Amino acid sequence: MISWLRNVVSAVSTTASALAASLRWWLRTYAPQRGTFTEQYEYPELPLRVASRYRGFHRYDLTSCIACERCARDCPAECIYISKYRPPGQKTFQVTSFVIDYSKCMFCGICTESCPMDCIFMGAAYNLSCYSREGCVVDFARLPPEIAWGRASLNPTAVALSKLLTGPAHPDPRSASAEPAGPPPSAAG
Ligand code: SF4
Ligand code: SF4
Repeated sequence: MISWLRNVVSAVSTTASALAASLRWWLRTYAPQRGTFTEQYEYPELPLRVASRYRGFHRYDLTSCIACERCARDCPAECIYISKYRPPGQKTFQVTSFVIDYSKCMFCGICTESCPMDCIFMGAAYNLSCYSREGCVVDFARLPPEIAWGRASLNPTAVALSKLLTGPAHPDPRSASAEPAGPPPSAAG
């Protein structure tokens, strides 16, 4: 009997303390100095503040990538796909597509550690909301450089527009041709 009573008291006190904690946090939402959520963050006009080492969607610099594919090889989720070709008479490759499938990426950051050129980093962008799985597949070579390389500039609109392009959004500065490259007839992948 004593033991039963002790269990009842314990259950009631545990439940009461949990409810008190919930009540405390609920009342805090009405504190005048706190303001509303939109007063703090102006969402979605301004992005939420993230920690300096936050691992969001990648930043990628096509102009310094040498297409070595180390990032793709070391990715544990195997979600980086690179296409490249070597322009005639040149020793370096030109990247024609650099795709990350965000339906598979787990934001571990290993690809950024593997890169010998420091041209891929984890960015601060966290919003890539879309209506289909296709929207989760981002080809960074189809994005304008300021979007692909910006710390928090990757956004669903730019990704949707990039899917209308058939080649890299800007030419490789090492290429003899100043024209934006389209898909080569025989891309070595
Ligand atoms: S963050 Fe990890 S899972 Fe995502 S692309 Fe890089 S290595 Fe692959
Ligand atoms: S490891 Fe770096 S240089 Fe090599 S393909 Fe990946 S992003 Fe480009």
